[in-house]
Amino acid sequence: MADSPLSLSERAGGEGDGKPLDLVLLGPAGAGKGTQSRRIADKYHVPHVASGDLLRMHRDRKTELGLSAMRYMDRGALVPDDLVISMIVDRMRQPDANHGILLDGFPRTVAQATALDGELEAEGRELKLALYLEVPFDVLVQRAAGRWTCRTCQTTYNYDVNPPRRPGICDVDAGELYQREDDRPEVVSERIRVYLEDTVPVVDYYRERGILREVDGTQDIETVAAEIERQLEAAVW
Ligand code: AMP
Repeated sequence: MADSPLSLSERAGGEGDGKPLDLVLLGPAGAGKGTQSRRIADKYHVPHVASGDLLRMHRDRKTELGLSAMRYMDRGALVPDDLVISMIVDRMRQPDANHGILLDGFPRTVAQATALDGELEAEGRELKLALYLEVPFDVLVQRAAGRWTCRTCQTTYNYDVNPPRRPGICDVDAGELYQREDDRPEVVSERIRVYLEDTVPVVDYYRERGILREVDGTQDIETVAAEIERQLEAAVW
């Protein structure tokens, strides 16, 4: 019955055309990707996979990948494509990603974007949408400097715009909040510079394919979330 389409959330619950909901969220450090990703993942029942979180997990566990990646991460540089691509491909092949995946922080280079396309195509899937959260450089530096991250669940807070209810304690799981080493001001500027230099071609790549949607990330969290939802519903139906 074409006149009463299911909403995207009903569809993601296993109804509708049943095709996997594969999405990427692009934007520099501090654009609000983590916050918005968690909301999208909860609402549409797709795993939220953040390449930065996975890399930090490997680093903390001192895996071979983590030790190789650490040298790059600590100075705000990109980890080499081959390492990141194989890490993400492994994650995409886990059963919980069968119905879709929300990638946050990946792809960061055109090589990663084409590898992602290849992996999806091999599974008979395709990217539905690339959302780009746009925030000016000076706002990003300021946001990152005030950012605190939960040590256990990685939820982020900002003491100016999005403070935790109790200082130093995560609202979600009461974990300890800490300032990430790579959120220090001198590293932050480098991360943002690298992001803009390397990732703008990725934005262009998706724009040319007609699946890029830009969202003004300077708006408050609820407004950005509503805008993302609107874009998602429009793109999938
Ligand atoms: P993030 O948490 O997304 O800001 O990522 C933290 C750091 O992990 C980055 O500064 C990079 O060193 C590394 N990283 C995360 N995702 C990628 C990626 N897709 N490609 C290369 N390096 C990445």
